[in-house]
Amino acid sequence: MSSARRLRLPAPPAPATATWQTDGMSGTERALRILIVDSHGQPVRWAALTRAARYYASGKVVTDLGENLFAMSGGYQESSGLRSEFVTSSIVMIRGRHRLPVDHAHVGLTKHRLFARDRNVCAYCGGQYTEPGLTVEHIVPVSRGGRHEWTNVVTACRSCNTRKGNRRPEEARMPLLFVPYAVSRNEGFILSNRRILADQMAFLQASLPKHSRWAHA
Ligand SMILES: [Zn+2]
Repeated sequence: MSSARRLRLPAPPAPATATWQTDGMSGTERALRILIVDSHGQPVRWAALTRAARYYASGKVVTDLGENLFAMSGGYQESSGLRSEFVTSSIVMIRGRHRLPVDHAHVGLTKHRLFARDRNVCAYCGGQYTEPGLTVEHIVPVSRGGRHEWTNVVTACRSCNTRKGNRRPEEARMPLLFVPYAVSRNEGFILSNRRILADQMAFLQASLPKHSRWAHA
Protein backbone atom coordinates (compact mmCIF):
# COMPACT_ATOMS: atom_id res chain seq x y z
CA MET A 1 0.00 0.00 0.00
CA SER A 2 2.58 2.51 1.05
CA SER A 3 4.88 1.71 -1.87
CA ALA A 4 2.03 1.78 -4.42
CA ARG A 5 0.99 5.24 -3.31
CA ARG A 6 4.45 6.62 -3.43
CA LEU A 7 4.95 9.27 -6.09
CA ARG A 8 7.30 8.50 -8.90
CA LEU A 9 10.44 10.54 -8.54
CA PRO A 10 11.29 12.82 -11.41
CA ALA A 11 14.17 11.75 -13.60
CA PRO A 12 17.59 12.76 -12.32
CA PRO A 13 19.11 15.80 -13.94
CA ALA A 14 20.98 15.21 -17.16
CA PRO A 15 24.70 14.60 -16.72
CA ALA A 16 27.08 17.49 -17.13
CA THR A 17 28.17 16.21 -20.50
CA ALA A 18 24.65 16.32 -21.97
CA THR A 19 24.43 18.25 -25.18
CA TRP A 20 21.54 20.63 -25.39
CA GLN A 21 20.10 21.17 -28.78
CA THR A 22 19.34 24.56 -30.08
CA ASP A 23 17.74 23.29 -33.30
CA GLY A 24 14.32 24.73 -33.82
CA MET A 25 15.15 27.86 -31.91
CA SER A 26 14.86 31.15 -33.71
CA GLY A 27 17.92 33.28 -34.31
CA THR A 28 16.74 35.65 -31.61
CA GLU A 29 16.50 32.89 -29.03
CA ARG A 30 19.88 31.53 -29.98
CA ALA A 31 21.39 34.99 -29.49
CA LEU A 32 19.95 35.26 -25.98
CA ARG A 33 22.42 35.23 -23.17
CA ILE A 34 21.86 34.27 -19.57
CA LEU A 35 23.56 36.50 -17.03
CA ILE A 36 25.56 34.29 -14.66
CA VAL A 37 26.32 35.87 -11.28
CA ASP A 38 28.27 34.51 -8.30
CA SER A 39 26.89 34.06 -4.80
CA HIS A 40 27.71 37.72 -4.04
CA GLY A 41 25.74 38.95 -7.02
CA GLN A 42 28.86 39.82 -9.02
CA PRO A 43 28.39 39.16 -12.71
CA VAL A 44 30.62 36.34 -13.94
CA ARG A 45 29.75 35.99 -17.64
CA TRP A 46 27.14 35.99 -20.33
CA ALA A 47 26.29 32.38 -21.09
CA ALA A 48 24.50 30.77 -24.00
CA LEU A 49 21.54 28.58 -23.03
CA THR A 50 23.62 25.48 -23.58
CA ARG A 51 26.18 26.66 -21.07
CA ALA A 52 23.49 27.62 -18.56
CA ALA A 53 22.09 24.09 -18.97
CA ARG A 54 25.45 22.68 -17.96
CA TYR A 55 25.45 24.77 -14.77
CA TYR A 56 22.09 23.24 -13.87
CA ALA A 57 23.16 19.74 -14.81
CA SER A 58 26.27 19.91 -12.65
CA GLY A 59 24.35 21.23 -9.65
CA LYS A 60 26.10 24.60 -9.55
CA VAL A 61 22.96 26.74 -9.60
CA VAL A 62 21.88 28.35 -6.31
CA THR A 63 18.85 30.24 -7.54
CA ASP A 64 17.18 32.03 -10.40
CA LEU A 65 17.01 35.80 -10.20
CA GLY A 66 15.59 36.78 -13.57
CA GLU A 67 12.04 37.50 -14.60
CA ASN A 68 12.25 35.96 -18.07
CA LEU A 69 12.06 32.21 -18.42
CA PHE A 70 13.43 30.12 -21.24
CA ALA A 71 12.86 26.46 -21.95
CA MET A 72 14.78 24.20 -24.22
CA SER A 73 14.84 20.50 -24.81
CA GLY A 74 17.91 18.39 -24.34
CA GLY A 75 19.00 14.95 -25.42
CA TYR A 76 17.00 11.75 -25.06
CA GLN A 77 17.63 9.97 -21.80
CA GLU A 78 18.71 6.37 -22.22
CA SER A 79 16.77 5.11 -19.21
CA SER A 80 13.37 6.56 -20.09
CA GLY A 81 13.63 7.35 -23.77
CA LEU A 82 12.15 10.74 -22.91
CA ARG A 83 13.56 14.02 -23.93
CA SER A 84 14.84 16.05 -21.01
CA GLU A 85 13.68 19.60 -20.67
CA PHE A 86 15.46 22.48 -19.12
CA VAL A 87 14.07 25.77 -17.88
CA THR A 88 16.16 28.70 -16.81
CA SER A 89 15.59 32.34 -16.02
CA SER A 90 17.49 35.23 -17.55
CA ILE A 91 19.70 35.69 -14.47
CA VAL A 92 21.19 32.70 -12.67
CA MET A 93 23.17 32.67 -9.44
CA ILE A 94 25.84 29.99 -9.17
CA ARG A 95 27.76 28.72 -6.16
CA GLY A 96 30.90 30.33 -4.87
CA ARG A 97 32.59 33.64 -5.13
CA HIS A 98 34.34 34.26 -8.38
CA ARG A 99 37.24 36.50 -7.61
CA LEU A 100 38.61 37.96 -10.75
CA PRO A 101 42.26 38.47 -11.45
CA VAL A 102 43.15 42.18 -11.34
CA ASP A 103 43.57 42.46 -15.09
CA HIS A 104 40.11 41.01 -15.66
CA ALA A 105 38.52 43.77 -13.59
CA HIS A 106 39.42 46.09 -16.45
CA VAL A 107 36.94 46.21 -19.29
CA GLY A 108 38.68 45.86 -22.64
CA LEU A 109 38.32 48.77 -25.02
CA THR A 110 36.61 47.70 -28.22
CA LYS A 111 34.98 49.69 -30.97
CA HIS A 112 31.53 48.32 -30.26
CA ARG A 113 31.76 48.94 -26.50
CA LEU A 114 33.01 52.49 -27.05
CA PHE A 115 30.16 53.31 -29.45
CA ALA A 116 27.72 51.76 -26.97
CA ARG A 117 29.19 53.77 -24.07
CA ASP A 118 28.64 56.96 -26.08
CA ARG A 119 25.26 55.79 -27.42
CA ASN A 120 26.47 56.11 -31.02
CA VAL A 121 26.64 59.88 -30.59
CA CYS A 122 29.52 61.88 -32.07
CA ALA A 123 31.30 63.77 -29.26
CA TYR A 124 31.95 66.79 -31.50
CA CYS A 125 28.76 67.42 -33.53
CA GLY A 126 26.27 65.53 -31.38
CA GLY A 127 24.88 63.60 -34.33
CA GLN A 128 23.73 60.03 -33.82
CA TYR A 129 24.96 57.47 -36.34
CA THR A 130 24.92 53.76 -37.02
CA GLU A 131 28.20 51.91 -36.45
CA PRO A 132 29.56 52.16 -40.01
CA GLY A 133 29.37 55.96 -39.77
CA LEU A 134 31.40 56.10 -36.58
CA THR A 135 35.08 56.05 -35.68
CA VAL A 136 37.19 55.66 -32.55
CA GLU A 137 38.57 59.14 -31.90
CA HIS A 138 41.63 59.72 -29.73
CA ILE A 139 41.13 63.06 -27.96
CA VAL A 140 44.88 63.55 -27.62
CA PRO A 141 46.13 61.89 -30.82
CA VAL A 142 48.24 58.79 -30.33
CA SER A 143 50.98 60.36 -32.45
CA ARG A 144 51.11 63.17 -29.88
CA GLY A 145 51.43 60.89 -26.89
CA GLY A 146 47.73 60.21 -26.29
CA ARG A 147 46.97 56.81 -24.84
CA HIS A 148 44.64 54.20 -26.21
CA GLU A 149 42.43 54.01 -23.13
CA TRP A 150 38.82 54.69 -22.13
CA THR A 151 39.48 58.22 -20.84
CA ASN A 152 41.22 59.33 -24.06
CA VAL A 153 38.72 58.03 -26.60
CA VAL A 154 35.32 59.17 -27.74
CA THR A 155 32.96 58.22 -30.50
CA ALA A 156 33.15 60.55 -33.51
CA CYS A 157 31.48 60.60 -36.89
CA ARG A 158 33.73 60.22 -39.91
CA SER A 159 33.59 63.85 -40.96
CA CYS A 160 34.37 65.23 -37.46
CA ASN A 161 37.26 62.76 -37.14
CA THR A 162 38.70 63.89 -40.47
CA ARG A 163 38.17 67.55 -39.64
CA LYS A 164 39.91 67.28 -36.27
CA GLY A 165 42.81 65.37 -37.77
CA ASN A 166 45.99 65.25 -35.76
CA ARG A 167 45.04 68.06 -33.39
CA ARG A 168 43.87 68.38 -29.83
CA PRO A 169 40.24 69.55 -29.42
CA GLU A 170 41.33 73.04 -28.28
CA GLU A 171 43.64 73.42 -31.29
CA ALA A 172 40.88 72.34 -33.64
CA ARG A 173 38.32 74.47 -31.76
CA MET A 174 36.16 71.41 -31.45
CA PRO A 175 35.13 71.15 -27.80
CA LEU A 176 33.87 67.82 -26.52
CA LEU A 177 30.12 67.64 -25.94
CA PHE A 178 30.57 64.98 -23.27
CA VAL A 179 33.32 63.69 -21.05
CA PRO A 180 34.82 60.25 -21.65
CA TYR A 181 35.02 57.90 -18.69
CA ALA A 182 36.47 54.51 -17.84
CA VAL A 183 33.86 51.79 -18.01
CA SER A 184 33.15 49.85 -14.81
CA ARG A 185 32.89 46.10 -14.78
CA ASN A 186 29.11 45.98 -14.60
CA GLU A 187 28.80 48.56 -17.34
CA GLY A 188 31.15 46.42 -19.44
CA PHE A 189 28.57 43.63 -19.18
CA ILE A 190 25.86 45.98 -20.45
CA LEU A 191 28.01 47.16 -23.36
CA SER A 192 28.95 43.63 -24.37
CA ASN A 193 25.44 42.35 -25.00
CA ARG A 194 23.42 43.79 -27.84
CA ARG A 195 20.29 41.88 -26.88
CA ILE A 196 20.23 42.59 -23.19
CA LEU A 197 16.86 41.98 -21.51
CA ALA A 198 15.15 44.54 -19.28
CA ASP A 199 15.62 42.54 -16.07
CA GLN A 200 19.31 41.93 -16.84
CA MET A 201 19.76 45.63 -17.54
CA ALA A 202 18.09 46.61 -14.26
CA PHE A 203 20.25 44.12 -12.33
CA LEU A 204 23.50 45.51 -13.77
CA GLN A 205 22.37 49.14 -13.53
CA ALA A 206 21.78 48.83 -9.79
CA SER A 207 25.52 49.04 -9.10
CA LEU A 208 26.67 51.50 -11.75
CA PRO A 209 28.43 54.70 -10.75
CA LYS A 210 26.32 57.86 -11.18
CA HIS A 211 28.47 59.26 -13.98
CA SER A 212 27.70 56.28 -16.21
CA ARG A 213 25.47 57.09 -19.15
CA TRP A 214 23.82 53.72 -18.58
CA ALA A 215 22.97 54.31 -14.91
CA HIS A 216 19.62 55.88 -15.75
CA ALA A 217 18.90 54.25 -19.09
ZN1 LIG B 1 30.44 64.53 -35.78
